[in-house]
Amino acid sequence: MKVYNTLSRKKEEFVPLEEGKVSMYVCGPTVYNLIHIGNARPMIVFDTVRRYMEHKGYAVNYVSNFTDVDDKIIKKANEEGTDASVISERYIAECKKDMEALHVRPATTHPKATCEIDGMIEMISTLIDKGHAYVAGDGTVYFKTRSFAEYGKLSHKNLDDLRSGERSLLVSGEDQKQDPLDFVLWKPKKEGEPFWEAPWCEGRPGWHIECSVMSKKYLGEEIDIHAGGEDLIFPHHENEIAQSEAANGKPFAKYWMHNGFLNIDNKKMSKSLGNFFTVRDIGEKYDLQVLRFFMLSAHYRSPLNFSAELMEAAKNGLERIVTSVGNLNFLLENADDKGLGESEEKLLTEADGFVDKFDEAMDDDFNTADAVSAIFELVKFANTHADAVSSSAFLQALKEKIVMLSDICGLVVEKQQEMLDDEIEALIQERQEARKAKNFARADEIRNILTEKGILLEDTREGVKWKRA
Ligand code: AMP
Ligand code: ZN
Repeated sequence: MKVYNTLSRKKEEFVPLEEGKVSMYVCGPTVYNLIHIGNARPMIVFDTVRRYMEHKGYAVNYVSNFTDVDDKIIKKANEEGTDASVISERYIAECKKDMEALHVRPATTHPKATCEIDGMIEMISTLIDKGHAYVAGDGTVYFKTRSFAEYGKLSHKNLDDLRSGERSLLVSGEDQKQDPLDFVLWKPKKEGEPFWEAPWCEGRPGWHIECSVMSKKYLGEEIDIHAGGEDLIFPHHENEIAQSEAANGKPFAKYWMHNGFLNIDNKKMSKSLGNFFTVRDIGEKYDLQVLRFFMLSAHYRSPLNFSAELMEAAKNGLERIVTSVGNLNFLLENADDKGLGESEEKLLTEADGFVDKFDEAMDDDFNTADAVSAIFELVKFANTHADAVSSSAFLQALKEKIVMLSDICGLVVEKQQEMLDDEIEALIQERQEARKAKNFARADEIRNILTEKGILLEDTREGVKWKRA
């Protein structure tokens, strides 16, 4: 499997630090609003990377943070006259709903910056002790960028050409910086802002330190993959590397992966241009897996243009796969259980060729565009060769291949049979009995079965009520 590494600017053979395991950190959103469709791109892309790696047999430890302390969150909290935590918790909950609708699986761990302040203070202290950071007069702590000789290795920038990152410019002690390249690790509190006790002053962390700390805590000092959108290469990821490698004395991430940007009608998405869409906006018009399918129809490193026509094309493309699987299911209902015929065996070997094609595309730096084409070829093949005289073994095998490849892309292409009311009520009854018998594992299992079928349960005083989602 080959992965394009921003660090070397080359496709490299993927060799994990530990055989059979992958540790992966993906920078998550700042939670002050509903996520927009640009934010959805790294979520979808790296969820697909994770799914493919799991398909190849790796155990993937996937960590993605929520940045829940930030100027924009504080601004919104002040506008609403509430705490920053009320805003961030609200939008974390909304983000999780969007992720579910996009079939982005929850990370192994979703750490939040505000819960990791102790670790940040510890790492900042280490950086000060090692001479990589200093405290300015007002208590601001800066990273001494020139103390890290390899600074610029990810963004391939020359130190002398650099200006410090935008987000660190708005700090009170800016004039006390020893060098314009230095960036903030900790900054003093301001009126109306959340703050924490620290040895240097009451205040809050700079943006970059949280990812260095959370990555170390949940994945270890050295990790396999660190990922995010390409806007994060500089300064965020460059600064993360400086902090982590200076503090730990070890290489940080082996592979750095970055997705290209999503534009709207060939323009940068922005509220002021009126071409800004939240995932929720798109969800009003489409099943959100259409958005997922649309994103995967391009290579993750390419810029991607969003338009109504392209979404319609994605909708039709996905529909083609769903219809083919539906057709196979229809044929299966009446098919003869006579076992695979000789010609069918040959055809299945041919069908495996499309599965190999899919794998080859994914092995080549997750080329989902070509992988999706391989699914289409398989669908076309199934449509051509499956008919009323096919054996059920043949139909089943074809269907399983399409469903398996779609599943790696996070696409559900087999329409679930709706559960009948009687079945639902029987399961609810069984769940009540399991709970009475303190068999909570079974009770939870039943709730999960029902959730998967889109049945929502509500425990009320009058008993359990249910509705279809
Ligand atoms: P933010 O909340 O701005 O830190 O962004 C969260 C993630 O979304 C980061 O990985 C960004 O790089 C990514 N991102 C933001 N806007 C876009 C966009 N228009 N296209 C692709 N990725 C984006
Ligand atoms: Zn980050």
